[in-house]
Amino acid sequence: RAKKRGRDRYEFFTQALQAEIVETKKLADDILRGMENHEFEAFYQPQFDARSRDIVGVEALVRWRHPTLGLLAPDRFMRVAEELNVVTAIDRLVLEQGLRDHAAWREAGLVIPKLSVNVSARRLHDEELIAQLGGMDIAPGVVAFELVESIFLDEEDEVAMANIEAIKRLGIDIEIDDFGTGYASIVSLMKLQPARLKIDRQFIAPILDSTRQRKLVRSIVDIGASLGIGIVAEGVETMDHAKALQRMGCDVLQGYAFARPMTAETLAGFARGQQWRVAPAARSGEHPK
Ligand code: C2E
Ligand code: MG
Ligand code: MG
Ligand code: MG
Repeated sequence: RAKKRGRDRYEFFTQALQAEIVETKKLADDILRGMENHEFEAFYQPQFDARSRDIVGVEALVRWRHPTLGLLAPDRFMRVAEELNVVTAIDRLVLEQGLRDHAAWREAGLVIPKLSVNVSARRLHDEELIAQLGGMDIAPGVVAFELVESIFLDEEDEVAMANIEAIKRLGIDIEIDDFGTGYASIVSLMKLQPARLKIDRQFIAPILDSTRQRKLVRSIVDIGASLGIGIVAEGVETMDHAKALQRMGCDVLQGYAFARPMTAETLAGFARGQQWRVAPAARSGEHPK
C-alpha cells in the first residue's frame, strides 16, 4: 500500500511538472509571437517631488496587450521572458519607446524632467549595451536606469561594473530599485555612487503603524542625506503615507496615492492637469503642510 501511495504521488508530481513545462513552453512561444506582433508597450507612472508635489519624472513599466487575455502586468510574463532571454529585448523596447514618448511630450510643450527605466541583470551584462546606447538620442541627465540590488551581489563582476561606468559617462543616472530587499552590501552599493535609492514598498506600507519601520526609513533617508543620494519612496498608497514620508525627508514619492501606471497619452493629459493644480506657493518653494 505504502508503495502504491508513493507511486501515485510520484505520478502526480511528474504530471504536475509536465503540465507546468507545457504551460511554460506555451507562454514562451506566445511571448515570442507577441514580440513580433509589437504587443509590448511602455506604461508610465509619475513620480512627485515630496514637498511641491510637482511631477519630477516617470517610471516606464512594461505591459503586454495580449490579443485574448487583455492587458498583462510583468508578473504574468517576466519570469519566462528572463528564462528566454527576451528580457533584454523588452528592456530595449521600453527604453526606445520611452525616448520617443519623452520627445513627443516635449514637442507638445510638456517637460518631464526624468525618464526611469528598469534594467535587467541580463541587459546590464550585455556586451552590446553601451554601443546600443551610444546610438540612441539620450540627452544627459534625463534618463535613469533602475537596477535591483541582486545585480551587485558579485563584487568582482567586471562586465557589470564597466558597463555602469560607461552608462554614467553617457549622462544616465543609476538608481537602486527595491532597496532593502536584496543582500548586496551597503559598501558595494555605495561604491556605485547611485543618484537615487528607491525604498521598496514593503518598507513603506507599514510606516504608519510601526515606530521601528519609521526608524528604518529614516535611517535610509539619513544615509542618502549624508552621501548626497536622493531617496525615492515607492508603493506610496495613501496620502497619509505621503505626508509621513515627506516629513521623514524622502525626496520623491511614487505610488497609487498619486497615480497608477498609464499609457503615454493618458500620462500627457494627467501631467497637464497636474501642472495647473500645483499651488503657486509650492512652486516658489514654500511648502504647504
Ligand atoms: P518595480 O520596478 O519595483 O516597479 C514598481 C511596481 O510597483 C510596478 O509594478 C508598479 O505598478 C507597482 N506600484 C506602483 N505604485 C504602487 C502602489 O502604490 N502599490 C502597489 N501595491 N504597487 C505599486 P509592475 O508595473 O507590475 O512591475 C513589476 C516589476 O516588473 C517592476 O517592479 C520591475 O521589477 C519589473 N518590470 C516592469 N517593467 C520592466 C521592464 O521594462 N524591464 C524590466 N527588466 N523589468 C520590468
Ligand atoms: Mg523600478
Ligand atoms: Mg521597485
Ligand atoms: Mg519591484
